[in-house]
Amino acid sequence: MKYDVVIVGSGPGGYVAAIKAAQQGAKVAIVEKESIGGVCLNWGCIPTKALLKSAKVYKTFMHSEDYGITIADKSKIKVNFSDVIKRKDSVVSKLTGGVKVLLNKNGVEVFNGLGTIVDKNTVKVNNETLTTKNIIIATGASPVIPPIPGVKESMEKGIILTSKEILSLKDIPNELVIIGGGVIGIEFATVFSTFGTKVTILERMDRILVNVDNDIRNDYLKILKKNNINILTEANVVGVENNEVTYEYQHKKAKVKADKILMSVGMRPNTNGFENLGINITRTGIEVNDKMQTNIPNVYAIGDVTGKIMLAHVASAQGLVAANNIVGKEEKMQYSRIPACIYGMPEIAMVGMTEEEVKAKNIEYKVGKFSIAANGKSLADGETEGFIKVIADKKYGELLGVHILAANATELISQSVTTMELEGTVFEIANSVHPHPTLSEIVMEAAHSVIDRPIHALK
Ligand SMILES: Cc1cc2nc3c(=O)[nH]c(=O)nc-3n(C[C@H](O)[C@H](O)[C@H](O)COP(=O)(O)OP(=O)(O)OC[C@H]3O[C@@H](n4cnc5c(N)ncnc54)[C@H](O)[C@@H]3O)c2cc1C
Repeated sequence: MKYDVVIVGSGPGGYVAAIKAAQQGAKVAIVEKESIGGVCLNWGCIPTKALLKSAKVYKTFMHSEDYGITIADKSKIKVNFSDVIKRKDSVVSKLTGGVKVLLNKNGVEVFNGLGTIVDKNTVKVNNETLTTKNIIIATGASPVIPPIPGVKESMEKGIILTSKEILSLKDIPNELVIIGGGVIGIEFATVFSTFGTKVTILERMDRILVNVDNDIRNDYLKILKKNNINILTEANVVGVENNEVTYEYQHKKAKVKADKILMSVGMRPNTNGFENLGINITRTGIEVNDKMQTNIPNVYAIGDVTGKIMLAHVASAQGLVAANNIVGKEEKMQYSRIPACIYGMPEIAMVGMTEEEVKAKNIEYKVGKFSIAANGKSLADGETEGFIKVIADKKYGELLGVHILAANATELISQSVTTMELEGTVFEIANSVHPHPTLSEIVMEAAHSVIDRPIHALK
């Protein structure tokens, strides 16, 4: 066998696994049919955050008087959208360039082309045959395109876009309909509504962001509405004709027109081509055990293709587990303390159980909340929307869930992840001296709120 491991797919699952295995002396090859870095670096996590940053800068300029700065003629403030896209592209190429260097310097051999798994020890790419002791399938997922009449035609005309094509728009659309009220839909809604697009979200379920704690969602919905994002739930899209979307809403048919339509109803694991390998594949992805092995022990699968939790940091964590098991260090993946983030304005970040989940499990619990508006740094920053909610076990105060709606919430959640990893309690958080003034003080204040009362809040 020429390689210890051949990895198919170079997203945050594949490239992390490759580097980890190589760091430990394995001979590694990685096969990528498009761009190193996968969806996350090229068309997902990173480019969306670059666009959000441009949107935030624009918003700050438009509200400059809130900070005591007068711009004489605001009509002269223009979004040069092609430059916004260029900046996004340059961020992506810096990061993917960095990953290429890391792969190279760690001695990982990179093959550009479609990887075909011939059998459990053989991967073909272009005209080469790679023989290997282990394989990691890290092929990710692709946007679901529902079989709704007219969707295919509008896609061919460039009216309906997926999260990939919308990242390379030439102009800001005047009107955008987003089909699907999940995280991806909400992030694009935030970007484009900030740039002035009239955004309508059509969601088939009775609520958007299904995994979010109800209290957080309810407050967030008010903020989205205030930002002129029109959200219709229980709105079932039944047809598209060119730029017009027909949907059923409150037992009636209704129509909405837009110059662009974003289809973001979910992602489907890329399992095509692996049907004859003998691994178990279900509708939700490739089945794996907690060492990331498929039913064929030397064939592993990681990331979105496993359909577990479709997040980049989960793919990377699974990649580390697979690489370590391959080099002989037994390690298991656990999913109970995975943080999840939504990068709107403000942001949402959460880890552990929602209050609804805690209730459903009949766990005795206490809740502590703290308003962002009562935090000094947030006031100074002029970003006071939201709150934090800490859910703790009633008897010992062990952290069960933390949910934050705030500017920079995504930067705040890791403290709670670590605390949970250590099986820590609200007492440890409350007793840890937090630097002042920081947004992180809200975590301490909410912990105090679980125990008795925070200093900076009235009963
Ligand atoms: C718009 C958007 C925003 C997102 N934002 C976030 C975020 O903020 N945070 C977060 O955690 N997650 C985010 N995600 C999800 C995140 O991108 C994925 O969870 C992550 O990319 C999964 O990593 P992966 O390694 O499993 O696969 P991917 O990143 O999908 O990479 C798979 C790679 O495999 C390649 N490939 C597939 N088949 C083959 C083959 N046969 N041969 C060779 N190569 C192949 C593909 O070309 C691709 O490069 C976002 C997703 C989208 C679409």
